[in-house]
Amino acid sequence: MERMIDGFARFRREVFPEQREVFEQLAKGQSPHTMFITCADSRVMPEMMFSAQPGELFVYRNIGNIVPPYAQHVSGVVAAVEYAVKVLEVQHIVICGHSDCGAMKALQHPGKLDGMPSVQSWLKHADVAQHVTAEKCAHLHGEDYLRCLTEENVVAQLEHLRTLPAVAVGMARGNLNIHGWIFDIPDAELRAFDGAEGRFIDVPVSGHPVPQASPMARFRIARGHGGLRSPR
Ligand code: ZN
Repeated sequence: MERMIDGFARFRREVFPEQREVFEQLAKGQSPHTMFITCADSRVMPEMMFSAQPGELFVYRNIGNIVPPYAQHVSGVVAAVEYAVKVLEVQHIVICGHSDCGAMKALQHPGKLDGMPSVQSWLKHADVAQHVTAEKCAHLHGEDYLRCLTEENVVAQLEHLRTLPAVAVGMARGNLNIHGWIFDIPDAELRAFDGAEGRFIDVPVSGHPVPQASPMARFRIARGHGGLRSPR
């Protein structure tokens, strides 16, 4: 714990004084623009990766960056998404997977989960990805198969995300966008799921639009129809 306490002391001494005004403002409330759902893996550090300031990202982490589909049994991540959309009114939700993910490796080699019934049960929410990958990427092996599985898991979780009523309404109104990303640890590269192309592409350098996983506009409920209020 000494490492943690030393780190906090350094934060108070070196970082906090420079950000004092930001923290004073944030003491009154938060208004993050993005909910970022990623793996609990210690190598994925959202605030560091996106040079984000306090208050910018509403981060939720779990094993395998999973969002269970809408159901009677409520999970923590589903409740957090609802809160982020309805109360914080985030404009974006990102589901971000990563390279060398232990959860994805466990799906690839189910024997690794022996003796871990809770993890085994949790990863059932990635069954779709496992089955689609077995079909789509049967010709691939090792790292390439893992990469395919990691991508399919992000797509599967995006589909689950869309089953949450708050997300579906936000997207129908056109004021909530969803994104599926994968962070490559050794090269610090980001790939994004392009919903229009149906595949992952490298995130272009600054100044270009980021690929969106949200469905095309024609799937949205037209404004002024269907009883939806106008977007903010
Ligand atoms: Zn992981």
